[in-house]
This record gives sequence, structure tokens and C-alpha cells, in this order.
Amino acid sequence: MRERAPFVPAAASERPPLATRTAQTARAKRETLQEKSLRAGAIARHLADAYPGVECPLAHNNTFELLVAVILSAQCTDAAVNKVTPALFHLYPTPAALSRASIADIESLVRTLGLFRAKARSLKHCAQQLVHEFNGEVPATMGELTRLAGVGRKTANVILGHAFDLPGIVVDTHCKRLSRRLGLTRQQDPTKIEQDLARLLAPEQWTGFSHRLILHGRAVCHARKPACAECIVHELCPSREGPCE
Ligand code: SF4
Repeated sequence: MRERAPFVPAAASERPPLATRTAQTARAKRETLQEKSLRAGAIARHLADAYPGVECPLAHNNTFELLVAVILSAQCTDAAVNKVTPALFHLYPTPAALSRASIADIESLVRTLGLFRAKARSLKHCAQQLVHEFNGEVPATMGELTRLAGVGRKTANVILGHAFDLPGIVVDTHCKRLSRRLGLTRQQDPTKIEQDLARLLAPEQWTGFSHRLILHGRAVCHARKPACAECIVHELCPSREGPCE
């Protein structure tokens, strides 16, 4: 019978750093909510270092313009939206002006964007709602915002976070992909992902964290080929060796 080698604990200097061990733990066993929350907090800090600014990339001068731009941004790049909005805002600077526009005229201004017909209808209907139901103002609650045409939770959270400085987790395709790869949720449904992230982070972190996940998804954690070797949170990511969708 072969003799067993005596157990020798690794010297502290030989052990992987704490962040690596934390991610390894996340892979090896199911994390407690507290462990996951601590890891989410560490990820949030690293991302804040890498992406200090969280300015909205959609050009706008007021909350109404932001609302219009976000409605137009569905399945489009921000750059494409920023090309059409100056003329749109110039001709229709208020909800009242936009509510009186013909759908054909709105379509002609946004026709370079995908789904432009549906978006033109949503814009007019949304402007009419603002005039008739909200005294021409953009409301500041999730319940009221999601009553507006063309506005779902994602759009509402952008408005809450960027226009009203209220906590809002924006779950777009990047936020969804990264939240899953980082092991912060197992959900597919954006509303459930939003709930999972909200449990892990303090409300004051919500807007910045989701915005930075989006930036990190665009810059590093690409859908097809994430650049894990360049990733600032790779030591905290349970998917770093073989990302899963
Ligand atoms: S380590 Fe890789 S999979 Fe994980 S967040 Fe970074 S780029 Fe994405």
C-alpha cells in the first residue's frame, strides 16, 4: 500500500488572490446571497474604476427629448438615433407639438431607424398621453412611465436613472448577458434579472452598475468572443474560462 503524502497547507503567498478564490468558490458551490452580494459589490467597484462616467450616450437637452430618444433606440445604435433626433427635436420640441404632428411626417424623420413605422406611431401616441394625462410633463414613476406608448421597463429605468436620478436597473442585451456570465442571475427574463440584481446591490448602485455592464459588454465581454484576458473583473467571474449564454 502506498503511503499518503502528509498534508501541507499552501503558504499564503502561493494561494491565489482572494478575488480568484471568491470566483472559484462561486463555481465550486452555490453561493449564499451574502457571498454573491459581496462579489457583486466588488464587481461594481472594479467597473466604476474602469468606467467612471455614466453619461447617457443619447443626445438630449431635457427629459422629454430623452424619452423620445430612448423610444427610438430600440434595436438601433445610439449613433443612429443621434443622427435623426436633432431635426425631430427642432420641429417638435414639446409633447404638444409632437402630439399634433402627422405620423407620416414623423416617419419621414426617423425612417433610417429600424421599426420606424411602429416607433413613429408610438411617439405620437406617447406625446398625446403626455399632453392629456400628464399635463405635458414626463412622469417620474415606473407605473406611470410604463403606461406610455413605446415605454417598457427598460426605457422607464433609463428615464428614472438619467432624468430623475432615481435608482433604475436597465436590463438590455448586454446587461442580461453579463449578469448571467458573472453568475449574478440565472434568469432569462429581464424583469427577473432586474429583481436579482436589485437584491445584490444597494439602490444607489443600480443605475451606474447596469450602465457599466452595458459599457463593459460593448467593450470587452462581447457576445461571441469575450476578451477575458483583458477583463477587469475576470477574477470575479465564474465564466472566465468558458463563458456560457
Ligand atoms: S471574464 Fe470573460 S466572461 Fe467574465 S465578464 Fe470578463 S469578459 Fe465576460
